[in-house]
Amino acid sequence: MNEEHWQAIVSCDDSYDGRFWYGVLTTGIFCRPSCKSRVPKQENIRLFATTEEAEKIGLRPCKRCQPQSVQWRPPDEELALRVERLIDECYQEPLNLTEIASRLFVSPYYMQRSFTRLKSCSPSQYLSQKRVEAAKRLLTETSNSVTDIAMQVGFRTSAYFAQVFHKLTGQTPTQYRAEYGQRIEQIGRKSETGS
Ligand SMILES: [Zn+2]
Repeated sequence: MNEEHWQAIVSCDDSYDGRFWYGVLTTGIFCRPSCKSRVPKQENIRLFATTEEAEKIGLRPCKRCQPQSVQWRPPDEELALRVERLIDECYQEPLNLTEIASRLFVSPYYMQRSFTRLKSCSPSQYLSQKRVEAAKRLLTETSNSVTDIAMQVGFRTSAYFAQVFHKLTGQTPTQYRAEYGQRIEQIGRKSETGS
């Protein structure tokens, strides 16, 4: 839970209703953020992106705030912005759609749809662009191997990296380096032979 979620719970902020739900493990009840019941201890709280998730682990809806009656509704623009920011900051990590969605407490389907509508590319495409941009820099500015660079920018295999790179640039990583990073590559070679 981040500070924002916690503040929403503490201040019973109804603008967060439908954006997440919280369960209290000690009482077995789950609530919407605006619930007026006593604020539980932070360590006993678990957050959920949907009411189904809370029910799946055996929590019951609170009678007071009736959390299951709230429609799930994160604001699109804010969600898209957060997806973008998360990718900008964490593209080197093993991110995928499900992982991004779970970090932002939204459903992958909803996230994909609102991001694509606002940004005219999907979160996965944006992630690939970000990784390829970073790879271009590393290819021209360092003498790291293509495999190392693939890992550094978040790809699991160099084959998949090469495939995505080619799709976005029309060149293989090696071709790109040969065209734009020659000088560096020579320096790299020199230090290899020197050692
Ligand atoms: Zn409640």
